[in-house]
Amino acid sequence: MAAGAHLAPGSTIGILGGGQLGRMLAVSALQLGYRCIGYAPVGDNVMAEACADFFENGWADKAALSAFAAKCDVVSWEFENVPVSAVEAIPQDRLAPLPRALEVAQDRLNEKAFVEQFGGTCAPHMRVESDEDFARALDRLGTPGILKTARDGYDGKGQWRIADERAAQGLRFPGRTCIYEGMVDFETEFSVICVRNREGEIRFWDSTANTHRGGMLVQSVLPAGPLVETQVAPARELAAKVADALGYVGVLTLEFFATRDGPVFNEMAPRVHNSGHWTIEGAATSQFENHIRAICGLPLGGTATRFASIDMRNIVGEDALTAHSILAEQGEPHLHLYGKREVREGRKMGHVTRVGPATK
Ligand code: AMP
Repeated sequence: MAAGAHLAPGSTIGILGGGQLGRMLAVSALQLGYRCIGYAPVGDNVMAEACADFFENGWADKAALSAFAAKCDVVSWEFENVPVSAVEAIPQDRLAPLPRALEVAQDRLNEKAFVEQFGGTCAPHMRVESDEDFARALDRLGTPGILKTARDGYDGKGQWRIADERAAQGLRFPGRTCIYEGMVDFETEFSVICVRNREGEIRFWDSTANTHRGGMLVQSVLPAGPLVETQVAPARELAAKVADALGYVGVLTLEFFATRDGPVFNEMAPRVHNSGHWTIEGAATSQFENHIRAICGLPLGGTATRFASIDMRNIVGEDALTAHSILAEQGEPHLHLYGKREVREGRKMGHVTRVGPATK
């Protein structure tokens, strides 16, 4: 798409992936008069219900990817583990963001090296390719620490927490490239979520304080507290450098630990993010709508927070079965269920956003 141009109403947006993030993107796209087509391997693709068409094909199926791309005016993704080879099968002038963003973010070693070039601070870490590397990393970085697969992990999967030497002795190298990270002593976690358009304009939403359990986000709240508030400026500066360097178009998320010594970068997600779900009701424009606006060349919407306090909690596993009872609460909670057919322990099934009084 040429700079300054935008997609006309009725145009088609393709989204790679089939989960709840895509479903919420599709709802925003529909609101703006676009239609969505999805593409993901066979599975519980809850995005399909919000799409005009959905390709259930493998990531290696080049013919299906071409047929999908031929129907789309712009193609984006909602899942950062889409293989780069699949994204490269889409004509590049139709893609937003570009595959380079995926390439960087899909590998924990790469993303750390990438942000370090721009002055970002990361947890002490070492590459682990063998039992010997693991022993060396333990020796140099000590315990406690976390061994993570360099690729394909999410929501705490592909991670082993190592409390002490004894725990380390019981663990063997898992046979795939890993990263061993020293445990960061943080006060809280926060994320910087921004949107960048084709002209390079960047807008940020307020940073929530995020709580994780077992490696998975459970809650995001505003206000995030004084420590996070003092660390947001350098964290945003880093996010802007990363977005500019990638020529990024759309929503980009960087996650940080707020430590006594300043923000420590944890990881990035080249997509809309769970810690930004509150923006649907809590901000002037949601992360989903602004992602659609950015990739379609529309003016970006305001990102200001509309309430004095916000509390977003994920609804996980069987809690979804009784989640409608939340609607009886005082204070008008905003409930979102993702329509997943299979309820599994630890699976994100929905979320609820509770807001405080409106800001003046
Ligand atoms: P990740 O998948 O890397 O985002 O890790 C999931 C969660 O595990 C993080 O949000 C933290 O709560 C925790 N975690 C991951 N790495 C570290 C670390 N190096 N130090 C302390 N906590 C960590």
